[in-house]
Amino acid sequence: MSENSHIIQTDIAIVGGGIAGSTAAVLLQNAGIEAVLIDPHAVFPKDFRCEKFNRDQMEMLERVGISGNIYAACTPIEDIWIARQGRLVNKMHYPHYGFSYETAINSIRAYLEKTDKLVQGKVKAIQSCKAGNRLILADGSQIEAKLVIMANGLNPGLRKQLNISQTMLSKQHEMAIGFDIEPIEGNKFEFDSFTFWPEKSSEKLAYFTAFKSGKSFRVNTFGYWDKDDVFMQAMKQNPEKALNILMPSLEKLIGKFKVDGRVHVRPVDLYQNHPEKCDGIVFVGDAYSTSCPGAGTGTSKAVTDVEILCSKYIPQWLDQNRFDADTLSEFYQDETKRQSDANSLHEAYFLKSLSLEKSLIWGARRWMRYFYHVGKGAVSGMPIIAKKTKLSKAA
Ligand SMILES: Cc1cc2nc3c(=O)[nH]c(=O)nc-3n(C[C@H](O)[C@H](O)[C@H](O)COP(=O)(O)OP(=O)(O)OC[C@H]3O[C@@H](n4cnc5c(N)ncnc54)[C@H](O)[C@@H]3O)c2cc1C
Repeated sequence: MSENSHIIQTDIAIVGGGIAGSTAAVLLQNAGIEAVLIDPHAVFPKDFRCEKFNRDQMEMLERVGISGNIYAACTPIEDIWIARQGRLVNKMHYPHYGFSYETAINSIRAYLEKTDKLVQGKVKAIQSCKAGNRLILADGSQIEAKLVIMANGLNPGLRKQLNISQTMLSKQHEMAIGFDIEPIEGNKFEFDSFTFWPEKSSEKLAYFTAFKSGKSFRVNTFGYWDKDDVFMQAMKQNPEKALNILMPSLEKLIGKFKVDGRVHVRPVDLYQNHPEKCDGIVFVGDAYSTSCPGAGTGTSKAVTDVEILCSKYIPQWLDQNRFDADTLSEFYQDETKRQSDANSLHEAYFLKSLSLEKSLIWGARRWMRYFYHVGKGAVSGMPIIAKKTKLSKAA
């Protein structure tokens, strides 16, 4: 990296330091490739995004060498309780990890060895130049790079400026709601993680999951309500009451609780951008295509993108000194990337159909899941009604 009359020159510039951009910066650093990461925040701020990883996602982070700091900062969870059709049907071993998104991202950024790898600023414009592309930051400073990695998430400004088209795949695909809960009136949560699946498709609920995260219990509730739905309105006024109306057996299963602090609401669209004709600019993570929060595939998709890009394609492109759109299209056509994107979309539509479809086949799929867990619960000798008895005492 060099500075020439206040223009930073580098091989790779990464716009946006969420999970995709921060992971890319660490992977390129570890490969000895010159790169800078540009993000408005030196320390990633509070944001409602992914708040738990499953074992496969942790293994993926382990594989790319960035799991150590996340393990140290997250809350490990060993077991999960599953409720279906209003009953607790299974308690199973299912290792996963609770965290806040900002904690995960700051843990990844902590792998950056030099502070000048992270430039604090917002990219306002991108122009082509002799070196490749020039980034103009809000404070007027400039960065020139042979290749720009766009990892700026949901921000549409630069995409529009670059005239990159977008296909809307599913407008308002899902509503994501996040908040903390606390047991009250002598109740104590006996689970580390609990997931409640809907009883009826008319509830428009995908699932409600409560899990330990630090000293709190965090809840992610995913569903298919629009913002004017009675449930969404009720959540604004009295979230405990709204949740108990939506899931009448919830309190019987986990005991009395209150919602603690702010309720975060995020409507999520599924879309795909088309940057394949850009010279010297490659899009990854949410900046390329979004995912369904309830399906839980967004971070795997983002890390898959940057793992392939940084370990396979960027070293080749630097060797050949080729960054034209035709060369970069190798990345978008990569079989692993295409499978990862396709899987993410499939899971998004599958969860929505499983939650909403009224046909016999989807009804059968819901019941199959119920009987699977009832069978598993019986095999593991789970005392299904014990919790009910204890909780009714507590209540
Ligand atoms: C509510 C919710 C819950 C979710 N739950 C899950 C889950 O359980 N499991 C899962 O796997 N996925 C989940 N996801 C999806 C997952 O969080 C995202 O797919 C993933 O975080 C995307 O990461 P990213 O790095 O592409 O984008 P982001 O994390 O959004 O990062 C984008 C970065 O770019 C920066 N930026 C934007 N514009 C500019 C600019 N002009 N200049 C410089 N920087 C810029 C932003 O400040 C930000 O730091 C969830 C998503 C949501 C919304």
